[in-house]
Amino acid sequence: MTSHDKPNSLWMATSAESTAHAHLNEEISCDVVVIGAGFTGLRAAHKLADAGSDVVVLDATDVGFGASGRNGGQVNPILPFNGPEQVRKIVGNTHFERLTEASLGSADSLFDFIEKHQIECQARQNGWLRVDHCEKAKIVSRKNADAWNKYGANIEFVEDDKLQKLSGSKAYRSGILAPRGGAVQPLSLAHGIARVAKNAGARIFGNTPATQLSQTADGWKVETPNGSVATKWVILATNGYTDGLFAGLKNAFIPFVSVQIATPQLPPDIIDSILPEGQTLSDTRRVIIYTRREPDDRIVIGSHGNLGRNGLLTGFKWLKEDAARIFPQLEGMKWEYEWGGKLAITDDRLPHFHEPAKGLIAGMGYNGRGVAMSNIMGTVLADRVLGADPNSLPFPVSPVKKIPFRNIQMLGKGTAVWAMQMLDKMETSTSR
Ligand SMILES: Cc1cc2nc3c(=O)[nH]c(=O)nc-3n(C[C@H](O)[C@H](O)[C@H](O)COP(=O)(O)OP(=O)(O)OC[C@H]3O[C@@H](n4cnc5c(N)ncnc54)[C@H](O)[C@@H]3O)c2cc1C
Repeated sequence: MTSHDKPNSLWMATSAESTAHAHLNEEISCDVVVIGAGFTGLRAAHKLADAGSDVVVLDATDVGFGASGRNGGQVNPILPFNGPEQVRKIVGNTHFERLTEASLGSADSLFDFIEKHQIECQARQNGWLRVDHCEKAKIVSRKNADAWNKYGANIEFVEDDKLQKLSGSKAYRSGILAPRGGAVQPLSLAHGIARVAKNAGARIFGNTPATQLSQTADGWKVETPNGSVATKWVILATNGYTDGLFAGLKNAFIPFVSVQIATPQLPPDIIDSILPEGQTLSDTRRVIIYTRREPDDRIVIGSHGNLGRNGLLTGFKWLKEDAARIFPQLEGMKWEYEWGGKLAITDDRLPHFHEPAKGLIAGMGYNGRGVAMSNIMGTVLADRVLGADPNSLPFPVSPVKKIPFRNIQMLGKGTAVWAMQMLDKMETSTSR
């Protein structure tokens, strides 16, 4: 049984850096409080500290405890689900141009940052394969790829023998290859950004949940169990881990759970047959599978899961069966690690920038494509604090509003995943 809070994670076992931060136990003041020490919060903290702001980061647990230290580490530069015209319809022409530029450049921008700051996180930009589970998915995916290529996405189509050689699986016949995509060891990256932010002057506190926010004459007061921070600005960077700190914020998305498993180091005959050129892979199913090959000859694979009230993660049995179906080389595998975490899904499948009160901003809702995008969002949140007009940012300002039928969607999540699996199965089998 795998617990969410004490995960048996490959990333924890192999992180290049790791630091425990002391909790806040006094009353302090600063220019900006960042709540949440994942990619979003840490990138915001770094940019602000670098620009001379006095920044304090608070995390309820510590750096990388949330999705940033648990994810699949796929650096994917294309917005999820939507083709460009759908995005344009949602955000309008001006934001469309900016958001497209930001998202298509997001992987390059992250890899540049990693290189510039010498962050040891096994970064590799070998491309991302998105493979089609059925004919219908192939048509939609090609149409969207063609459309994104008009904006410089540079996506290639791959089929049959070439795809099977690149993926090491006979389960897919077509897909796209986005060459700017790649992979990182996510927990190492989170610790690396934290180090860079601290070097720039940010102060980070672990085991310090923000428990209350109150507006003051000069800004905000953030209460924590053993201290408080008086500040001009508050940045909420809590994504799928958002609690009730700011009323209504957690209702603006649906928290989804994703789980992953990792093999032990594999012998050459097996490892060399899977993703031999080092691309990452994800498929087009509703209950997606995503996978990657590690520099130390392991395979990591993930999909949807669930989190019980008892704090235990589920979904591993189905994932192990599916992994062996897609890669028969992994049949009978004794998986060495299993873990999972929470991410945030928005109603329009786009990341949301919120500014619900003077001096209080939030950025979240990356819909499973947050490794590159949360890094962009962090810098955008910093720009806003540094004086950028909210209308000049890549993301439009979204109101904090409850997702329609959220309660029903939350209750029905288990059934919905089951129904999605059934639909995926039907489509896959009728396409053979
Ligand atoms: C299993 C999994 C696999 C994924 N795979 C991929 C992938 O391959 N590619 C991709 O692009 N995206 C992926 N994602 C999504 C991606 O990880 C996230 O979008 C991204 O990490 C979000 O970063 P963040 O900093 O916004 O939030 P998080 O990293 O979730 O950080 C939020 C932090 O807020 C803290 N917090 C919450 N409330 C409080 C409070 N009141 N006070 C103080 N601290 C608080 C939490 O402790 C947490 O550390 C995956 C997600 C998961 C869970």
